[in-house]
Amino acid sequence: MFENAIVIGGSIAGKIAAKALSESFRQVTIIEAGQEPTEKAPRKRVPQSYHPHVVLKGGEAAIEKLFPQITSELIEDGSTLTNFTGDLKWHHFGSWKKPFTGELIMVQQSQPMLDSHLQRRINHVSNITTRYETMSEQLLIDRQHNKVCGLRVRSLKTRTEEELSADLVVDASGFGSKSRSWLKTYGIEIKEERVGIQLFYASRLVRLKKEKRPDWYNLLISPSFPNNPYGAYIQTIEDDRFSVTFSGYVNERAPQTNEEFFSYAHKLPETDVLDFLKQAKPITDIKIHRIPYQVRRRFDLAKHIPGGFVVIGDAHCRFDPVFGQGISVAAMEAIELQRRVQHVTSLDQSFTKAYHKKISKIIATPWDMATTEALRHQNITGDRSLAQPMKQWYSKKVYELSASDPDIYIRLVRVMNLIRSPHHLFHPKVWLAMFKKKFS
Ligand SMILES: Cc1cc2nc3c(=O)[nH]c(=O)nc-3n(C[C@H](O)[C@H](O)[C@H](O)COP(=O)(O)OP(=O)(O)OC[C@H]3O[C@@H](n4cnc5c(N)ncnc54)[C@H](O)[C@@H]3O)c2cc1C
Repeated sequence: MFENAIVIGGSIAGKIAAKALSESFRQVTIIEAGQEPTEKAPRKRVPQSYHPHVVLKGGEAAIEKLFPQITSELIEDGSTLTNFTGDLKWHHFGSWKKPFTGELIMVQQSQPMLDSHLQRRINHVSNITTRYETMSEQLLIDRQHNKVCGLRVRSLKTRTEEELSADLVVDASGFGSKSRSWLKTYGIEIKEERVGIQLFYASRLVRLKKEKRPDWYNLLISPSFPNNPYGAYIQTIEDDRFSVTFSGYVNERAPQTNEEFFSYAHKLPETDVLDFLKQAKPITDIKIHRIPYQVRRRFDLAKHIPGGFVVIGDAHCRFDPVFGQGISVAAMEAIELQRRVQHVTSLDQSFTKAYHKKISKIIATPWDMATTEALRHQNITGDRSLAQPMKQWYSKKVYELSASDPDIYIRLVRVMNLIRSPHHLFHPKVWLAMFKKKFS
């Protein structure tokens, strides 16, 4: 047992990380800038909570491991169960995928619903406490031993500052994390890899005017560069609601009004979203979220990061949300954190280094998937490796084949769901299918 752990940020990554630490620390304190949530609703400091959130199967398994039975609780509370390959109507690279009933059952709900269930569960863990309306100001480091010793925080209510001691500080403060600048004051540089996507998400919730629902549960029109830069996603969520989202990269203008929302649907290569909108009535305003770039912060490559300091979730890596990876990666990182704190006797520099190295491996595949797709767009900025055109060629072939070949489709969704490695798509069966297609 260690004494105190502090988790900066009480959103999804922060809650999951706190739970992962709770069996190895006497006290886990979450420092959260926002107010205590009182209802199942989007939160001001988590602006993405207005937008749809997919939990991939790899992430679901990790969350379930940390919070046993949470999946059944979500289902009991109204989450929708869908068959990935059967209930999703998916248009990609010019064709619709042929649906079939496969093995992957998705549990889907709004972000606030998942967040409120995680909150309820950590409220019942006696050694986790949350200090709301408290801002983390600076990491405190014992320079002699290069080890974290605590965190300086400021109450947003009383404006008073305080120094809290800790054996471990976990940064789960999201994309806007200050870790890089905090470490810089101690002379430690963290490199960033950025892919400038300039993505917007425009989402609103709707209900159907009549009871008759479409023959799908989720509808996805994936941007497929260069031919189609526009994306749309309709997701069924709890309480008979649908979240409707448009996305656009680089110079696309986000729809802000009712008319613009409809006009955006006209730009899509298929009319299904437009047809759906005609059958639906809006129940919320349109919320816009902009994501200037995807970023991977290379804590794994930095030298001399103090012992007892780790970074998790969006603070470490922010993906293009179109791939729905953030929560799942954060949950997998938390499992790794749990495993490591249970097996070490000291939270020294080698602990920190080994953790960041391991989670860099967790991040590598989803990062590669998301950036390979984005970099097809010629105006998206980022490091284009020599292998990139080959990866893009291969993945496009897989996407195209998956439209008509159920074996390729299920392999693709297993990899996308982070339950199989990308090697699964390099099986001779896949090559044979490619070969047959070429000569058919
Ligand atoms: C539009 C959009 C759609 C997305 N869709 C998906 C999806 O479909 N599936 C998926 O898995 N992921 C998705 N994501 C990503 C997902 O939201 C995140 O990866 C996931 O929620 C983890 O976020 P986080 O907890 O690391 O950070 P955040 O949710 O950003 O939370 C950070 C928390 O830290 C607090 N905080 C920040 N600074 C401080 C400070 N100095 N002191 C104290 N507290 C602080 C904030 O108040 C906040 O509560 C999407 C993201 C966006 C933007």
